[in-house]
Amino acid sequence: MKFYLLGKSLKHSISPLIHSYFYNKLNINATYSNLEIADESLIADFIQKFKIDEESLGFNITIPYKENILNFVNEISEDVSIIGASNCVYKKDNKLVAENTDWIGFIKGIEHKNIDFINKTILLIGAGGASRSIIYALHKLKVKKVILTNRTYENALKFVEIYKNFIDIEPIKWHNFYKKPIDIIINTTPIGMGEFIDISPLDSIPNNVQFVFDAIYNPYETKLIKLAKEMNIDYLNGLHMLIYQAAESYKYWLNISIPDNVMNQAFEYAKIYLYKSV
Ligand code: NAP
Repeated sequence: MKFYLLGKSLKHSISPLIHSYFYNKLNINATYSNLEIADESLIADFIQKFKIDEESLGFNITIPYKENILNFVNEISEDVSIIGASNCVYKKDNKLVAENTDWIGFIKGIEHKNIDFINKTILLIGAGGASRSIIYALHKLKVKKVILTNRTYENALKFVEIYKNFIDIEPIKWHNFYKKPIDIIINTTPIGMGEFIDISPLDSIPNNVQFVFDAIYNPYETKLIKLAKEMNIDYLNGLHMLIYQAAESYKYWLNISIPDNVMNQAFEYAKIYLYKSV
């Protein structure tokens, strides 16, 4: 069996490591390969080969093709029709179906924390693919309101336009301090990793915030998470979300659930690999 990850730049991806770990633990005879695709025009080539290769059963999609991939599949799930992005494609009766496992990855990730999202006001930072999945999860979690801020305000407005009938959502300008109480902060921008490792998307965290989630998983503690820690606010980085979205793909690809003990071991394994000394 063959599975793939499609994206533009995959050098730092730990997905093959996580999937290979699942194969080892569950005795699955499969490969998981990174496929770097330089631009959208090359997706069609891959799809053509994928469709006729009987051993190829599914693939994940990452930045920047989570939205474009919808142009190449035969069906989209109900979740994907609302989210507008897919990170998981599988074959069904010779057709390609687009699913989304990022949103459930987020929900399962935060289940590791005892945080109640019901009726909470969320500050969501970023309006890209990760935010699309997370807004769907926030709807499922029955939050009260989402305050959305994004570097490019026009993109925040477009995002709000898409989801305004689905969830109570209000755009605010980048770095405009929100005056009303916020319960939970979620960062879905790359601010805190790579070239932005020494920056936080917020200079400070309002006092009444109960929980901070950063979708970044490397470094272990972003600047934003360090701020939360200093204020004794509970927090979580994106590693659980990453591992759960990977595991959830197997429900569609092979109709199997990865057992909890393997999930926990995969998390520890990835943690040692990524953070060494933590
Ligand atoms: P994306 O679709 O490219 O969206 C990126 C978002 O970040 C946009 O809102 C963009 O704002 C903003 N942004 C980019 N550069 C910025 C900068 N220099 N300053 C301020 N804002 C900036 O990417 P994505 O798929 O949403 O991924 C975003 C982050 O989430 C990445 O760090 C990724 O690693 C992480 N992620 C984690 C998981 C997980 O499983 N843990 C899953 C998905 C993503 P503009 O509109 O202004 O461009």
